[in-house]
Amino acid sequence: MTNNNTNIDINNMDKFDRKFFEFLYEKRSDNKSPSNEDIDEAKALLEVAKSSAKLTAPMVELFDKLKTIKERYGATPDDIGLDKEELKLMAHKHKTTDEHGVSVGGRVFSALPIVESANQRVQEYIDTHQTVAPSGFDLQDQMKKNRAKIQQKLNMSDSSWDSYAGQIKYAITSGEQLAEILDIPQKLIEDIQRVVGVFRMRISPYYASLIMPGVVNDPILLQSVPTGDMVDNKGINIEPVASDHSPARLIDQFYPRVATIKATNMCAMFCTYCLRLDHISDKDWVSSKNTYEEALDYIRKDTTIRDILITGGDALALSNKRLEYLFEELDKIPHIKIKRIGSRIPVMTPQRIDDKFLQICKKSNDIKPLRFVTQINTVQEITPEVKEAFKKLSKVTSAILNQAVLLRGVNDSKIKMWKLCELLQEIYIRPYYLFNCSFRNPEFGHMRVPISVGRDIVESMYGNICGDAIPRYLATAGGKIPLHKDNVAQINEGGDYLLKKPWSDEVVPYPDMSMERYKEPYGFENYPLDK
Ligand SMILES: *Cc1c(COP(=O)(O)O)cnc(C)c1O
Ligand code: SF4
Repeated sequence: MTNNNTNIDINNMDKFDRKFFEFLYEKRSDNKSPSNEDIDEAKALLEVAKSSAKLTAPMVELFDKLKTIKERYGATPDDIGLDKEELKLMAHKHKTTDEHGVSVGGRVFSALPIVESANQRVQEYIDTHQTVAPSGFDLQDQMKKNRAKIQQKLNMSDSSWDSYAGQIKYAITSGEQLAEILDIPQKLIEDIQRVVGVFRMRISPYYASLIMPGVVNDPILLQSVPTGDMVDNKGINIEPVASDHSPARLIDQFYPRVATIKATNMCAMFCTYCLRLDHISDKDWVSSKNTYEEALDYIRKDTTIRDILITGGDALALSNKRLEYLFEELDKIPHIKIKRIGSRIPVMTPQRIDDKFLQICKKSNDIKPLRFVTQINTVQEITPEVKEAFKKLSKVTSAILNQAVLLRGVNDSKIKMWKLCELLQEIYIRPYYLFNCSFRNPEFGHMRVPISVGRDIVESMYGNICGDAIPRYLATAGGKIPLHKDNVAQINEGGDYLLKKPWSDEVVPYPDMSMERYKEPYGFENYPLDK
């Protein structure tokens, strides 16, 4: 080939190719001689690149090799006997072959290193998540052994295990019962007994089977088994939840257009950090239809309300019949456009997600969107049973959202939270909120995590985890208040912003839209209609 007529001027290349050629041909004083092997390889790659008509990869390989040779030895392509015109031709061929006109300089000099450094940011996660944050899938072998032991100790049949009624009937409610299925110290048995005089304990056999024997602060244990500090550290006495936010019986309303029906105080478990433990774990109450009618009447009359959240306690502690009635009544109200049901029961007792409930959801969701809001706090709660339950729910609801609570020892590290958020997606759930564990019950300070720790964890996800998997970090203090860290590093005098990339701390200029221009006529306002 005659190279003189290629006529490619480096100045006409895009800025990436120009920079790349400058780099490759830069003379250095400390040149070392490349090995013959490297030279031969580069020459061979040039021949392949020249003969592969429609592919871009051979050109990328060639230039990547030249980059390595330059970095390692300081040698230019001239030094190793490659023709510059031919290389320019290859760069031109790359740019014209690529559908998006990407130059080989952009690809080799910029894109590939960016991908490599991005991958480095998640390498620790990939390397350690299995040991630092094993999921219910990772721990299946031990969980199956636990189940066999618990079933045997409780004399529980398979059919009892597989039913919600069985899970509640055989629930563990005392320190002695717990000691039968788990090796726990005498002191803990005594402390549990002290606590259950004040707050109840209720652990379904299924949930108990997720506890890893011998792990001191097992995340399942922490959430389900009360410790002495729950009664010893009693701090300021705090008013019952939301008596200042309840405009009608069973109703809470903080925000315009959305109201909650606290349809039950029952839960399948009494979580050790629960905001409402005082009320919930007192004793189960069951309401008559008239009670619900009072709540529904409030909703029927206020035509501004559009979104109803059925919660508790745990909404799924209600019977299918009662839930069907609530959905049907809500679906009849014209101003109610969407519904939500809040329940952690599929996590503690996935057996509750029966065919009848799925059918009720499907019917209601077909009339107006029904969203399912749940609470999964650790990947150890994500088991095949739980995945199956949410997979079924995903087919009969318009969305499943997770509201996690940031809890000490349960999910308070980057690796644990990243994995939780990714696995939620993988079981059909979208991470929605991450609550800082509330100060409302100071006696439960044992599970709290500093706000800044939570911020760092959430910030660490930007640019490293799929955006759809990043929850909003909030405090609950008379409503939900965002706790996101501010990424505005500076606002310049002209109003232009300097924004910080959370994943690299790099600050980038971000010109703002000027307020003056924002107020000018725009779009079709610039095309006055003919009179
Ligand atoms: C959380 C909550 C809502 C719903 O808030 P969203 O931000 O829409 O999820 C509504 N009412 C009360 C009382 C709540 O606690
Ligand atoms: S399921 Fe929810 S309401 Fe019930 S005890 Fe746990 S955190 Fe509290």
